[in-house]
Amino acid sequence: MAGYDYDLFVIGGGSGGVRAARMAASLGKRVAIAEEYRYGGTCVIRGCVPKKLYVYASQFPEHFADAAGYGWTVPEASFDWPTLVANKDKEIARLEAIYKKNVEGAGGETFHSRAVLVDPHSVYLTAEDRTVSADQILIATGGRPAPHPALSGHEYCIFSNEAFDLKELPKAIMIEGGGYIAVEFANIFHGLGVDTTLVYRGQEILSRFDMDLRRSLHETMEKKGIRILCHAVSERVRKNREGRLDVLLSSGQTLTVDQVMLAIGRIPNTENMGLEGVDVELGKTGAIVVDKYSRTNIENIWAIGDVTHRVQLTPVAIHEAMCFIETAFKDNPTSPDHDTIATAVFSQPEIGTVGLSEDEAVKRFPEIEVYRTSFRPMRHTLSGRDEKMLMKLVVDGVSRKVLGAHILGPDAGEMAQLLGIPLKAGLTKDDFDRTMAVHPTAAEELVTMYKPTYRVKNGVRV
Ligand SMILES: Cc1cc2nc3c(=O)[nH]c(=O)nc-3n(C[C@H](O)[C@H](O)[C@H](O)COP(=O)(O)OP(=O)(O)OC[C@H]3O[C@@H](n4cnc5c(N)ncnc54)[C@H](O)[C@@H]3O)c2cc1C
Repeated sequence: MAGYDYDLFVIGGGSGGVRAARMAASLGKRVAIAEEYRYGGTCVIRGCVPKKLYVYASQFPEHFADAAGYGWTVPEASFDWPTLVANKDKEIARLEAIYKKNVEGAGGETFHSRAVLVDPHSVYLTAEDRTVSADQILIATGGRPAPHPALSGHEYCIFSNEAFDLKELPKAIMIEGGGYIAVEFANIFHGLGVDTTLVYRGQEILSRFDMDLRRSLHETMEKKGIRILCHAVSERVRKNREGRLDVLLSSGQTLTVDQVMLAIGRIPNTENMGLEGVDVELGKTGAIVVDKYSRTNIENIWAIGDVTHRVQLTPVAIHEAMCFIETAFKDNPTSPDHDTIATAVFSQPEIGTVGLSEDEAVKRFPEIEVYRTSFRPMRHTLSGRDEKMLMKLVVDGVSRKVLGAHILGPDAGEMAQLLGIPLKAGLTKDDFDRTMAVHPTAAEELVTMYKPTYRVKNGVRV
């Protein structure tokens, strides 16, 4: 080990890479990390954090409207997009500095450079024009929006990266995609007053989520005024004489908008970084193939986070980093646990979900019970907002274990975090039943649904 410059070299300063570098350095290891763009990675710079700030910004018009029912007179509000962008920039610059400082504070060395593998123990730093060596190498280079070169006029389209920093707010936008990023941005732009159309090739948006959640969300979004066109794809984008974009859809319809945003998936960052030369095995989608300990086919090279295409979420990348540290530096082989991950979609209304959807549970269990309730949240009574909250528990009819919990409505993401604990612990519906309610809350419904709404036995609803 002494023959190498570092005990660990981390490529990529995002959620996973920074955590691994900081933890290894705090163990007294000689650590360096290279980031080619900005420390903090996708989550901090152009993902979770700016996204959530924009979600907050886009919710104000509804808050202003709802205030009337509570006796407030709100003068006509106006919105300034450049102010939001500038304030977001300030906040992410603050976080970026903290991420970098945390590594350095723990004793790690940080580089602002692209890093390319030269051999299993050497990394070339392009900005420094020098090669350094390391005993262990961790690849945490994340992913980026999937391009769509086959789309005629794709050069006029933007991705989530650009959406955060548009010079001006468009009057009308078309977003293509049906995953959580497309849905969240559709709600953001609509909330900010942009005429928004969501175009998705599949049957239903958010296809991997519980059917009740996605159908209710779809309905509510349409009621708010977001146009959702399923079973459609864009076939051609052209700039018209007014400088706007005409998008021809597979349905034959043409939309005229100011921006087209593609959110059709994400691909791993594995190109042009020397992986082929070192024979690091890549999967079909270009993701790095790893074993259950996040080790690649090369003994001293590891990979975590989005670049491995397992579960593409920030807490998962961080958890994989912690497991890597246990395995590589604490003599305690630990494989990441990807089971029962609570997650949220910051749509409006919000989705919070953990565990199996009803459809998945039916496939895996001979008998399930479904507890479902839909009600107007108390805060919407005086505001008069016509929006329902939905809560659903999916329970194994034999063991009574709660297999899935699904919420659509205000603060659903916060509730999903807490529901993640009983579901991870394998608690039963009886445990939920004997838990006292907190009143008056919306969440109390989760412990007061005593009778199943229906059962499903061998795939048949009874
Ligand atoms: C719009 C959007 C919203 C999201 N919202 C959420 C959310 O609400 N909740 C959630 O949990 N997750 C969310 N995610 C996903 C989350 O951001 C990622 O799962 C997470 O950032 C993955 O972390 P990572 O460390 O694997 O990679 P990243 O955070 O992507 O970091 C990789 C870093 O490596 C750098 N890099 C790449 N190649 C090189 C190289 N050769 N040399 C040096 N540096 C390199 C990149 O510049 C990047 O900074 C969102 C993603 C997007 C795009």
